[in-house]
Amino acid sequence: MQTTTQTFATVYATNACRHAARHHSVIAERPFAGSLATRKVAANPMAHGGVTVTVACRACGATRQENRNGRHVEAGAWHRA
Ligand SMILES: [Zn+2]
Repeated sequence: MQTTTQTFATVYATNACRHAARHHSVIAERPFAGSLATRKVAANPMAHGGVTVTVACRACGATRQENRNGRHVEAGAWHRA
């Protein structure tokens, strides 16, 4: 389990934004269009059916999509600009 966690963190860190949420801004909002789950990103079916927002980090420029439905969030993988 520990080895799996370390591997996940190492791979994920290459593109991940480590800045706090206060640095993040929603720059686009669209209707829900599908799951953001990947091999590295867990699905959260409770967050499906609402809106999909694009979040950008003002500190480092990374972006990601998030499915939001009420208080439920499914956060996609970060992408570097
Ligand atoms: Zn950032």
